[in-house]
Amino acid sequence: MIYTDVLIIGGGPAGLTAAKMTCEAGLSTLLIDRSHILGGQLTKQTHKFFGSKEQYAKQRGFDIATILQENLQNFPNLTFMLESTVVGLYEDKVVTVLQRNEYKKISAKVIILATGASEKFLAFENNDLPQIMGAGALQTIVNQYQVIPGKNMVMIGSGNIGLIVSYQMMQAGIEVKAIVEANDCIGGYKVHASKLKRLGVDIKTRTTIKRAIGTEKLEAVELIQVDSNFKEIPGSSEIIETECLCVSVGLSPQHQLASMINAKTAYIPQLGGFVPLLNDQYMTSVEGVFACGDMVGIEEASSAMMEGYLTGLYVSQYLNEPHPESEQLIEHYHQQLHELRNGLFGNKTLIGIQKRKEKLTNAP
Ligand SMILES: Cc1cc2nc3c(=O)[nH]c(=O)nc-3n(C[C@H](O)[C@H](O)[C@H](O)COP(=O)(O)OP(=O)(O)OC[C@H]3O[C@@H](n4cnc5c(N)ncnc54)[C@H](O)[C@@H]3O)c2cc1C
Repeated sequence: MIYTDVLIIGGGPAGLTAAKMTCEAGLSTLLIDRSHILGGQLTKQTHKFFGSKEQYAKQRGFDIATILQENLQNFPNLTFMLESTVVGLYEDKVVTVLQRNEYKKISAKVIILATGASEKFLAFENNDLPQIMGAGALQTIVNQYQVIPGKNMVMIGSGNIGLIVSYQMMQAGIEVKAIVEANDCIGGYKVHASKLKRLGVDIKTRTTIKRAIGTEKLEAVELIQVDSNFKEIPGSSEIIETECLCVSVGLSPQHQLASMINAKTAYIPQLGGFVPLLNDQYMTSVEGVFACGDMVGIEEASSAMMEGYLTGLYVSQYLNEPHPESEQLIEHYHQQLHELRNGLFGNKTLIGIQKRKEKLTNAP
């Protein structure tokens, strides 16, 4: 059995920033990630980020991942376990980890869940043909492994991820034949959409995918227009030949580890799906188990970082080893979060967070 004060599951922006605070507070901290590298989603992101200087605006995602790791150098009380997947989590705060075919047990005084999100998918005919994938997989293949899955592609979904990944793929030399959106307007920031339009990309609103066509692998897609009730408009279908299809229709918080210890969860659409319910200090309904980042509500890396800092600070207070600047930093990061959530998509998140709080109070 390995013992630690704080166990952080997930080394994305939320987990890495939480670790900085718990380490600065002098707590022994063990950070686990199933990947061979730290940084979570950031490691795949080649575009420059928005936000303020404090959230590393104008830096590329993978560079932010490097900065967050550099911020953790020189802490003798910090240990990393990579290529290690947490497969079991129990209410006495013991976890089972599978590290390169070997099972290990860890006992912690506090656990911070920062496991991020998984991609949603769509049901349509032949959606299991090779060359059809989610935006995360496409980014991994192209941006991390430098493999081009096809000369051209169609993107389903015009949210920020669909738009950003389309642009990244064009930078990698892939022709984006169309971006398809079932709603009557583009979901992501106009600035991203305008850039793509200027480059000649056709963004088709009120359109969805009807089926994928191919035998051994994807050869074409059939698109169809939909009305304001999302009903197909007969006779409006169109076939586009394509070597790759990317489905980017949203993310779901990875709440499974919280559910494993019977933490109270609720379905909150504004936060992306099922999330653990939290108090104001980011603690779940299970004493000593905290959670932050995309797994408690889909937002952005900038807010995941602020939540990570806050969670680490609250954990240090919970363990009676408060960070030396606890009070000032808590106020500061709350202010940062407040400013971030003042943006275009912030209101939806705030409604979701309010529901997450109320449901915890009202839950049996
Ligand atoms: C294409 C794309 C573009 C984006 N662009 C922006 C942008 O411009 N600006 C911005 O602010 N945000 C952006 N985001 C959002 C941002 O990447 C996420 O909000 C952020 O990464 C969430 O951080 P996180 O730490 O909560 O989760 P993640 O970054 O997902 O990290 C979770 C980590 O947990 C690990 N993990 C999960 N389960 C386990 C387990 N059982 N055991 C061990 N480890 C586990 C994973 O391996 C991963 O490393 C973008 C996202 C995408 C997909």
